[in-house]
Amino acid sequence: MPASKTLILVGTLLTFLASASAAEKSPSFSKADLAAAGQLRERALADATAYELISSLTTEVGPRSAGSSGDKAAVAWGLREMQRLGFANVRSMDVTVPHWVRGEAEFSVLAPWPQSMPTLALGGSVGTPAEGIEAEAVMVKDLDALKALPADAVRDRIVFFNNRMERTRDGSGYGRAVPVRTAGPSAAAALGAIGVVIRSISTSDERFPHTGAIRYAADVPRIPAVAISNPDADALARQFENGKSVRVRIRSSSRDLAPAPSANVIGEIPGTDLAGEIVILGAHLDSWDPGVGAIDDGAGVAIMMATAKLISGLDQKPRRTIRVVLFANEEFGTSGSRAYVEALQGDAARHVLGFEADFGAGPVWRLSSRVNSAQLPAVDQIFRALAPLKLARGGNEVSGGADLDGLAKLGMPLMSPDLDGTKYFDVHHTANDTLAKVDPVALRQAVAAFAATVWLGAQYPGEWERVQTVKPPRR
Ligand SMILES: [Zn+2]
Repeated sequence: MPASKTLILVGTLLTFLASASAAEKSPSFSKADLAAAGQLRERALADATAYELISSLTTEVGPRSAGSSGDKAAVAWGLREMQRLGFANVRSMDVTVPHWVRGEAEFSVLAPWPQSMPTLALGGSVGTPAEGIEAEAVMVKDLDALKALPADAVRDRIVFFNNRMERTRDGSGYGRAVPVRTAGPSAAAALGAIGVVIRSISTSDERFPHTGAIRYAADVPRIPAVAISNPDADALARQFENGKSVRVRIRSSSRDLAPAPSANVIGEIPGTDLAGEIVILGAHLDSWDPGVGAIDDGAGVAIMMATAKLISGLDQKPRRTIRVVLFANEEFGTSGSRAYVEALQGDAARHVLGFEADFGAGPVWRLSSRVNSAQLPAVDQIFRALAPLKLARGGNEVSGGADLDGLAKLGMPLMSPDLDGTKYFDVHHTANDTLAKVDPVALRQAVAAFAATVWLGAQYPGEWERVQTVKPPRR
């Protein structure tokens, strides 16, 4: 036999062995499991559970920021609703949370043309003296522009960050804009500023300011920080035209109280032959206080609970255990998810696959993942099972959300039916986050995508291998 022919034969044999081993690593879903996924998808499109849950949570509990009476009521609500839906092992896990109270805030332009504007203190902001603070304002676009100012340009002044967030479907506009809110107050304080006002990290043109957490640096004074809406930021920027000196006043009675008890709420659909492996569905129970947290994150809570409920209604039981975790205090320091990971004590590897819903009430537009490359064929099969929902195929680089970040860093694979965030930041963290902003049709479609994906994740006939490196979350 000529050498070339031998090489071709050997090559063919190697190709055959390689594809045989890939198939062995990523076996196919059974016909019964795929049929059940189709059934879940169809049932979800006609199911009102998720909408009813958001309606109940926003009506009976309403605002539920960490440590508040609403936070406690939300924990009781979660336990009661999980029991009502028939989940197993329903329980709470105690979590201590920071307790910041907003109080009242005012923002006024004093000169050149006096007027006051609706405002919200940023989450965690210190308050002002009762009479407020008054100073000349310095307008900058963002953190880079602040750093580029001459020395002493902001000393004893109030800094106005005037960067407009870009509208995107995947939330990347938020990721680019939000450092002004989290890091802006300390960056300004480090240069001697006495207060900060920001253009809301929001895409809305309504007059609703947008709150959200500050992360104060340890080594500089904590200064008060508030947000104004996009139209008011436009108006404030116009006051600077022609080089006029702009004076503003901030008044805020926000303050910290002692840390308070809260809890993660946990319930399960028990698995069968692989019951020791957990597919975790995460959302957060707390919300910011100006609205009632319908889209952030009542929707995520509802999508996950409805998904588990629909799966529990199948004739077939899941192989792996499906665990819904409603995390305490995502908004102001991810206390619940950190407590959850700490309590695992080396048991993290039992969490074989994670899903998080914290990006509004749908629809789902894309299926992304972060799995070991050997499991990518399984993701492809799941994607094909979702074909009637007409999703796009996303990449394998998803970071998940803030609540599953700790588990993802420990190597847990993630699947992500990506929620469409195009309009999310019109409402998120504002007084306008109400049930009226939830589209029931889009919500049912989102539950359909999650239910079918979670089910197949729980039925996967292969092993969900650990993933080595995970990007940090985008929000
Ligand atoms: Zn959220």
